[in-house]
Amino acid sequence: MDDCIFCQIVDGEIPSRTVHEDDDVLAFLDANPLAPGHTLVIPKSHHESLNDLPADVGSEVFAAVHALTPAAEAAVDAPASTVAFNNGEAAGQEVPHVHAHIVPRFEADGGRPIHALVSDRPDLSDDELDDIAAAMRA
Ligand code: 5GP
Ligand code: ZN
Repeated sequence: MDDCIFCQIVDGEIPSRTVHEDDDVLAFLDANPLAPGHTLVIPKSHHESLNDLPADVGSEVFAAVHALTPAAEAAVDAPASTVAFNNGEAAGQEVPHVHAHIVPRFEADGGRPIHALVSDRPDLSDDELDDIAAAMRA
């Protein structure tokens, strides 16, 4: 994708601070980090969201996330991290090339947990929860 920032990083047209590269995956420091060590892990091939990602590429991305999460924490002496995908525009994804965020976390860093993502939580009945689970199993 010619106009994709992350494809341009993969192609070397935009510089990045690369921390890992293999045949399928590139990982580099975020240019506007939420924390020291904030790392992005991307497939080299262009896929907009997790939903578009072939399973074998997804496995390679997760393998890199699995290896790089402790590496990012160790590099900045962080005791924890938040690892997440903004998956789709409505979830806040700004760059439409699938990427995992590894954000090292510190005590009293002012950050919040995943449960702070949404301010208006739904009040779902047991029937509604059963219906959602059934729809997913189908
Ligand atoms: P999103 O909101 O799509 O989940 O996150 C996109 C991330 O990409 C942001 O954290 C932003 O700082 C980062 N980013 C955007 N452009 C560049 C770039 O050119 N280089 C690097 N290293 N990171 C970028
Ligand atoms: Zn791309």
